[in-house]
Amino acid sequence: MAIISSVIFAILLGIGGYFAFKSFSKIRKSILLGKDEKREGNLKNMVLMALGQKKMFDKPIPAILHLFIYVGFLVVNIEMVEIVIDGIFGTHRVLSHIFGSFYVVLISIFECFAVAVIFSCIAFWIRRHVVKVNRFQSADLEGFAKKDADTILYVEVILMVAFLSMNMADLQLQQLKAEHYPNTGNFLISSSLTSIYADFSASNLVLVERFSWWLHIIGVLMFLNYLPFSKHLHIMLAFPNTYYASTNLYGQMKNMPEVTKEVKSMLGVATTESENSAVAGKFGAKDIQDLSWKNLLDAYSCTECGRCTAQCPANLTGKKLSPRKIMMSTRDRMEDVASKNYNANDGKSLLGDYISHEELLACTSCNACVDACPININPLEIISELKRFKIMEESAAPQSWNMMFSNLETSFSPWKFSPSDRFNWAKES
Ligand code: SF4
Ligand code: SF4
Repeated sequence: MAIISSVIFAILLGIGGYFAFKSFSKIRKSILLGKDEKREGNLKNMVLMALGQKKMFDKPIPAILHLFIYVGFLVVNIEMVEIVIDGIFGTHRVLSHIFGSFYVVLISIFECFAVAVIFSCIAFWIRRHVVKVNRFQSADLEGFAKKDADTILYVEVILMVAFLSMNMADLQLQQLKAEHYPNTGNFLISSSLTSIYADFSASNLVLVERFSWWLHIIGVLMFLNYLPFSKHLHIMLAFPNTYYASTNLYGQMKNMPEVTKEVKSMLGVATTESENSAVAGKFGAKDIQDLSWKNLLDAYSCTECGRCTAQCPANLTGKKLSPRKIMMSTRDRMEDVASKNYNANDGKSLLGDYISHEELLACTSCNACVDACPININPLEIISELKRFKIMEESAAPQSWNMMFSNLETSFSPWKFSPSDRFNWAKES
């Protein structure tokens, strides 16, 4: 029986691991559809933003709840090491033999985190469905996005309850001195809840303990396979995303070297080597393969928290633009292309079919979204690239913008007056 159980366990682990690996490889391939771009890594930024969640603490209550879920989930799943060893070798609580009396302390810590995760998931559910926090009520989240957020909360609660239930049944079996259930000592939380199973017979307790054990491992494997389709992919991608995030000043835009070369030559300013070697190709971006790999990594890392949209002046004044939706649309387009065997020639493009002209024109390039994002995502870079394509390749700028462009060319300012008159206002006063 123990051998059959070990074989089933190993097969499940292999199948779950294989499909998860395939899905993550597909995401990597989708990100690499983007253009090459040199990015310096920044370990300090990654530690502060992804590990330390520095920006999250602008709003302390959700930050603490999020920290409980994040740390709790990671810590409790260390238990998976023991489950995997026990599953393959047919042992039971193998780590209790290695850690001795410290094992009780370890599992008690895991249990405290499990309770914190359950509490935080309930609080997040209440924020979404009872308090109805504004940024979670937007039209961006209609359909799958809303269901996805709820699904993960339910799954995390189920996994944590399974973990506690497994320990409770195990402790009861230990008290009954059941075979294969060695005495480990009392765990902090589950020992005070064992009365729930007080009337259970030994065989029913074994059933509960085994059911919870299998539920835990199968739940984790399913979670791993669901992650690539979910916004919760950020629990992994937040790390590389913050590592490669630009720490340049917000106002410093990514210039096009081929255009800078032309402008500098007109002004008689010396050009750099990289500007000289720049060859004019397509200006801006029409589809995902015109964006950089970092823009695409941004889209896969987005947590859909809506902090960017809540700060966006265009959105706040009723315009159609939502930086969160820009990231979600970019990801949707990537998934669409991946589902067609990476064929982007399907007559569709990110610009037009997923992100409209109206959304782009509403952007003021203020960088408020970039500043608000807890994991350094930059929706403005994508918006700017799409705008560049619209204006420089399709000459589709609004008339008022064209007037501003010619004023810049002739008067070196957005207004139509001579540069020599620029300080007249000071003389008049
Ligand atoms: S840069 Fe554009 S998208 Fe971002 S907050 Fe400002 S107006 Fe909104
Ligand atoms: S871009 Fe950043 S702030 Fe905006 S929804 Fe995504 S993770 Fe949240």
